[in-house]
Amino acid sequence: MRSSGDAGLRERETADPEGQDRLFHRGRGPGRLTVVGLGPGDAALLAPMAAEALAGADMVAGYTAYIDLVPPGLLAGKEVAATGMTGEVARCRLALEAAAAGRRVALVSSGDAGVYGMAGLALEMLEAMGLGGQVAFSVVPGIPAVCAAAALLGAPLTHDFAVVSLSDLLTPMEAIRRRLDAALGADFVLALYNPRSRRRSGHLALALALAARHRPPETPVGMVKKAFRPGQEIRVTPLAAADPDWADMLTLVVIGNTATRLAAGAMLTPRGYAGKYDLAP
Ligand code: SAH
Repeated sequence: MRSSGDAGLRERETADPEGQDRLFHRGRGPGRLTVVGLGPGDAALLAPMAAEALAGADMVAGYTAYIDLVPPGLLAGKEVAATGMTGEVARCRLALEAAAAGRRVALVSSGDAGVYGMAGLALEMLEAMGLGGQVAFSVVPGIPAVCAAAALLGAPLTHDFAVVSLSDLLTPMEAIRRRLDAALGADFVLALYNPRSRRRSGHLALALALAARHRPPETPVGMVKKAFRPGQEIRVTPLAAADPDWADMLTLVVIGNTATRLAAGAMLTPRGYAGKYDLAP
């Protein structure tokens, strides 16, 4: 596959001769697979370009709970292939086979499709199925849960941060522990995805215990449940009082770095302006 920027642009023009479409495609159609990030949940946080990609699709595929995030008007008249949570490989295969047959398929993920989402698996399977030449592939970004939760907490990510998923479904627990320790040791603000699943609950407790080795007990820890969805809850506590059992499967956790503090009731990781400028009037 060609990969230089110029070649990519030519491919885009080929995939869309009328120039009506701003999506960046790799590979030639006529079929296409567009992996679309839907944002955290509220339709107002669905990017206009994502809505455009959904409107231009004739088939929408995705996990049932993600399909539910798509505004119903955008699904009208389309084939909808909704599948269960663990059917990622089957869902991708279905989407790719339909695209190879000439359909315009949108494969949806919550948040950003490239952040623990379907974009990676779709690309791996596109390659494995040898479809790079016959399916135009593109990814439309969405607002990831980490940004949605940070906005609700205040400004906890204004300095360097690391993101770790606590799911050991595809990553060995030892690797997760090593990454947590390295990020905490380097004083990154630490954002945690997948703090618990149906089958496991101890990983967040472990992460908080590791954090306590590197951070003072008063370090703010923010947890946001169902960001920008019905039932949204926001909680900020000192690290010493953070309750791992409060988190559920739709919670995003942010552990501050050594500079993170509360400002006007919100979580703030200062970038350093105060040391350089006089911020008070
Ligand atoms: N692609 C998604 C992540 C999917 S992994 C993204 O970019 O956000 C699923 C995990 O994302 C959940 O376990 C939870 O940690 C987080 N998550 C997804 N939506 C969320 C929401 N609305 N509020 C809080 N956390 C959310």
